Amino acid sequence: MTEPTPNPHEVEVEVEVEVDVVIVGAGAGGLLAACELAAGGLSVRVLESRSRSGGRLLSTTHDHMGVDLGATWFWPSEPMINQLVQKLDIATHSQHIAGDAMYHDRPESQRLDGNPLDVPSGRFSKGADHLTTALADLLPTGTVSFDSPVDEISVGETSASVRFGGTGIRCSHVVVAVPPALAVDAIAFTPPLPDSVASLCAATPVWMGTTTKVAAIYPRAFWRDNGLSGSAISHLGPMREIHDMSGPHGSPAVLFGFAPHTAELTETAVTDQLAEIFGPDAGAPTKVIVQNWQQERWTTPAGAEHLTDYQTYGHRLFQSPVLHGRLHWASTETSPHAPGHIEGALAAGRRAATTIRTTLDPSHEQRDTHA
Ligand SMILES: Cc1cc2nc3c(=O)[nH]c(=O)nc-3n(C[C@H](O)[C@H](O)[C@H](O)COP(=O)(O)OP(=O)(O)OC[C@H]3O[C@@H](n4cnc5c(N)ncnc54)[C@H](O)[C@@H]3O)c2cc1C
Repeated sequence: MTEPTPNPHEVEVEVEVEVDVVIVGAGAGGLLAACELAAGGLSVRVLESRSRSGGRLLSTTHDHMGVDLGATWFWPSEPMINQLVQKLDIATHSQHIAGDAMYHDRPESQRLDGNPLDVPSGRFSKGADHLTTALADLLPTGTVSFDSPVDEISVGETSASVRFGGTGIRCSHVVVAVPPALAVDAIAFTPPLPDSVASLCAATPVWMGTTTKVAAIYPRAFWRDNGLSGSAISHLGPMREIHDMSGPHGSPAVLFGFAPHTAELTETAVTDQLAEIFGPDAGAPTKVIVQNWQQERWTTPAGAEHLTDYQTYGHRLFQSPVLHGRLHWASTETSPHAPGHIEGALAAGRRAATTIRTTLDPSHEQRDTHA
């Protein structure tokens, strides 16, 4: 006789602690929600699968400045992020847009008259992930647990429990600050999500989740000396779109490009393309970094390249909590305002935090309205 296989849902899970809110994911959305909930006097715990915060904000350091491998820009039209960089005293500089852009549809690329490819935008001088590390620093020590991938969320009428690595945390509310398609791929929900919500999540593309970003670092921003902006559109590839991503005053000097995840991105392919567009100096970077977001299991679930319906972004079903009103969404994809952007993640995090604070203390909304 064989031993019966245990049903994982019946395995006794040691419930570790009790907090008001557990937040799944320490990206911009999750951390903003955590900060606003903690500032409102609620106890929070953030569970993060990676060993770092930031999610799709990822930067490496070069000459004490950031080189972004995920998000790069924020825009003047985005109120939340502009207020936050002021409040958190995040060093920023303007995107370099002066000069002519290039058009690459044959090996001898063409110089355009002016730069139709860039608009004024802000940059994070120490890297975009400075924003999320600054948010995490506002939280009480020990609030964020790294290497803690959540695999099950159970919600009852009076509480919820969030499980990771064989342990669990009981709480009143859960914020899922993870791309919805990844959430339904990696997390078991008990009871199951309503069908309409589960299918919406599964159909929602992960913003930039199937893109590869390439950064080429140079001794100096030589293209600027030639009156070039550093931006280009390419029909030949492997990179399709290229921009200047240098630090303040051009240091460190960096060009970056976006390529589809399927592109062959050998160092030679990258440097040959850059030299064709910007001249021989561009063929000799001191360093090339390739970041393929399709291969990031904590951003992009398998099969995400087939998700193309961006109409799901900010869907009304993401605006209300589900499962007894205890499970809230807070990734950028769920925001009707600036979905896909860092701004959208912040807005989604704030919506989740405000809903929870209002549910736990209905006088909160009234107080904030009169503040
Ligand atoms: C290449 C690229 C370029 C971009 N450029 C820009 C730009 O210039 N400007 C702009 O505004 N936006 C840009 N974006 C988008 C921007 O990065 C995102 O909108 C924003 O970072 C999303 O934040 P988020 O909190 O919603 O999600 P994420 O940053 O994805 O955070 C989710 C977090 O949840 C964690 N997680 C996942 N699964 C689990 C689990 N089961 N348990 C626990 N934790 C889990 C992840 O590790 C991650 O830390 C870009 C993105 C990419 C990839």
